[in-house]
Amino acid sequence: MKLFMPSAAALRAYIARLPKTETHLHLEGSLPLELARRIDPVAFASPPPYWHPDYRFDGFALFQEQFDSCFFQWFVSRENYFESCRRVFADVVAQNCVYLECSFHLGTAERIGKTPFREIDRAICAAKPPGLELRLYLGMFRDHYAGPLARVVDEAITWDEVAGVDLHGFERPEFQPWSAEVWSRVRALGKTTKAHAGEFSPADDVRRAVEFPGTRRVQHGLGALGDPAVMALLRERDVTLDMTPISNVKLRAVPSMREHPIARFLAAGIRCTVSTDDPMLFGNQLNDDYLALATEAGLTPATLVQIARNGFEVADLPAATKQRYFAELAAALTAAPSAAASRSS
Ligand SMILES: [Zn+2]
Repeated sequence: MKLFMPSAAALRAYIARLPKTETHLHLEGSLPLELARRIDPVAFASPPPYWHPDYRFDGFALFQEQFDSCFFQWFVSRENYFESCRRVFADVVAQNCVYLECSFHLGTAERIGKTPFREIDRAICAAKPPGLELRLYLGMFRDHYAGPLARVVDEAITWDEVAGVDLHGFERPEFQPWSAEVWSRVRALGKTTKAHAGEFSPADDVRRAVEFPGTRRVQHGLGALGDPAVMALLRERDVTLDMTPISNVKLRAVPSMREHPIARFLAAGIRCTVSTDDPMLFGNQLNDDYLALATEAGLTPATLVQIARNGFEVADLPAATKQRYFAELAAALTAAPSAAASRSS
């Protein structure tokens, strides 16, 4: 029996058919190109240079600068959030993604004038299309809990529309005392807490994300590879790493897609999922990230199915709904392109 490598076209079609989740998406980093063009018609007349597959950001500061100089300018009203999210959610559904965890940024509260901040999360929820399960997270920087913004956080974590919280942006300063206190309050409300760590920061920062704010959902977590004890901690505490491969490559968090370590984490028994992070910055959609892992990092269709399954394992969905998606994914395994090619040979 000969073994065939499935073609990229066959893999893309296969990936497109898999039901999937996306559990690491920033709404402000998802601004559609046509809306960015309304802010700056010249700069965005054609797709920006960072959409090119070979583009690499020279450091996180340049990446963050795009938000400050352009994207945040869009997110100043409930109407603008609605218009952007309506398009973003439609794109997500087109990837056969049925469950989405995404964050909106606390800093918006300083930009919306007299509009109550809750109007923003209601506008986001109103943009949800039928068929998409949406869980909305309030995202903030590690030093964001101060002054009026602290009061916004205290209120927002109680809102029904807010499923949880996420610490994002620069992986510094170190986690501050408030995050452990607020994060435990959020969990007491039955909600989920996340934290970005280990995209650029070392294993010890990932350990602190787990032990200090006490999250079981680390965004990225790549740095954990540097310390076997932290890898063991992730396994023991059943931590999920919500990874974003194309983002990792373009921000130089990993040297190349071929060297992306997600397979090493999976082999170590650590649950990983795959998402896009900031599609406006990376020019990616969810199926692109799966395809890149298959064609460049050598992940098999079976591993892609496992990653999709991992997303449903941690999803905030009823058990019966999860079982339905597990069954769909199990059935998809038997139709994997390499298996089909092998059978026909
Ligand atoms: Zn992120």
